[in-house]
Amino acid sequence: MTQFGKAPKIVVIGAGPVGALAALYAARRGDQVEVYELRGDPRDAKTIPLNFTKSINLALSERGINSIKHAGVEGLLSDIMADTIPMYGRMIHGKKNGQLFSKSQAYDVHGRSIYAADRSGLNKHLLDALDAMPNVALYFNHKLTGADFRRKRAWLERRELPLGGSSVTDRDPEIEIAFDFLIGADGAYSAARFHLMKFARVDFSQEYIDTLWCEFHIEPKRTDSGAQFIISPGHLHIWPGTEHMFIAIPSSEKSFVCTLFGPHAMFDRLDQDSSTLAAFFAENFPGISPELIPEAELVKQYTSNPHLPLISITCTPYHYKDAGVIIGDAAHAMVPFYGQGMNAGLEDVRVLFDLLDKHGVYSTTNMVDTNSARASALDNYTKLRTPDATAINGLALRNYYEMRSGVVSPIYLFRKHAEEF
Ligand code: FAD
Repeated sequence: MTQFGKAPKIVVIGAGPVGALAALYAARRGDQVEVYELRGDPRDAKTIPLNFTKSINLALSERGINSIKHAGVEGLLSDIMADTIPMYGRMIHGKKNGQLFSKSQAYDVHGRSIYAADRSGLNKHLLDALDAMPNVALYFNHKLTGADFRRKRAWLERRELPLGGSSVTDRDPEIEIAFDFLIGADGAYSAARFHLMKFARVDFSQEYIDTLWCEFHIEPKRTDSGAQFIISPGHLHIWPGTEHMFIAIPSSEKSFVCTLFGPHAMFDRLDQDSSTLAAFFAENFPGISPELIPEAELVKQYTSNPHLPLISITCTPYHYKDAGVIIGDAAHAMVPFYGQGMNAGLEDVRVLFDLLDKHGVYSTTNMVDTNSARASALDNYTKLRTPDATAINGLALRNYYEMRSGVVSPIYLFRKHAEEF
């Protein structure tokens, strides 16, 4: 409540995992919450998902789990965890003296694990929890096009069809909304960040690394007793290579969602002649095709799934006075090799609301000026979060060397680090 007794209006831009969790935290504190999302409702089968593929499987770890727990929504964490699969270590695959081998490396001496989670499944659980809150309104097919953080106004384009459709509605295509506090959680190419930068003096840097990624699937083994995992579900599987890497993460359908990472030049070569793909895999990632993915399927998946870039973003400050803040990938998109992009974004939400609480933004006494309390909380948020987010970004970049080479050659990793850092 504000000092005038009316619940503040919190506008969240982006209903990805981070925006949805932020909306839940605000709604649980009694704010009037509006969430605006560019795409259609991901629970609608017609919606084209983020990255235009069926889904991406993510490693959910303590940072993210703890932040979901602190949302305080009964049953939410257990519903999310019920759909995850524990991964207790890496399984390194390769070939030595003509023989295929696999070697397990535990993540933790105490046997603890990280968890394979389907990004869209996790997102749907968060949206279901938001649907159950009376003080939350979800607006899909709404694209943030402008924001004035001094006047606390934002503009959104309404789209009749999910992304991929062509027409805007017959109604007024653009709406203007007022807000007390805007949370920008609209991903790496954030419009909220773009508009915030016109008000706050934001230092910003972005880097495309020379790596593309392409998704593959390993189907379950069909047996008389039903579908089975074809390789161990308790591991994150890695086929390392000095310049490229293939990984497989288990999914609850007993399949594996896989990613090929490699430099542009490698993709260019394979694009020119996809008939070389099977030989390329046999040489660099032995044991994948035809053993786990039939050759024809390998070519089909490579040619039909997009080859996407990886971006790393750092910026600071994350906020403007008491009016707005950016969180998640909007504030610190990172390369995926440390498995912490979403986890760090979920942690942003916990840290942000901890500070809003500590600074008295949700105090029930009439003594607190909500706006100045929020401004102090946001100042502290930027101070506290910038070094942490920048450190995780750096660790994510370094972990690419570890995953594709260090896992098989600690000496290579040591030399590489000595040269580059
Ligand atoms: P997003 O997931 O990007 O969501 C942003 C939302 O905002 C989207 O729904 C988008 O439609 C919407 N939006 C965009 N623009 C607008 C606009 N103008 N108006 C309104 N809405 C808008 N992270 C991990 O923690 N563990 C992993 O193992 C992991 N693996 C990864 C593997 C790969 C291959 C990739 C690419 C990423 C991986 N990540 C991982 C990173 C993770 O996917 C992101 O960090 C996470 O999705 C960020 O969540 P977000 O909600 O901040 O942003």
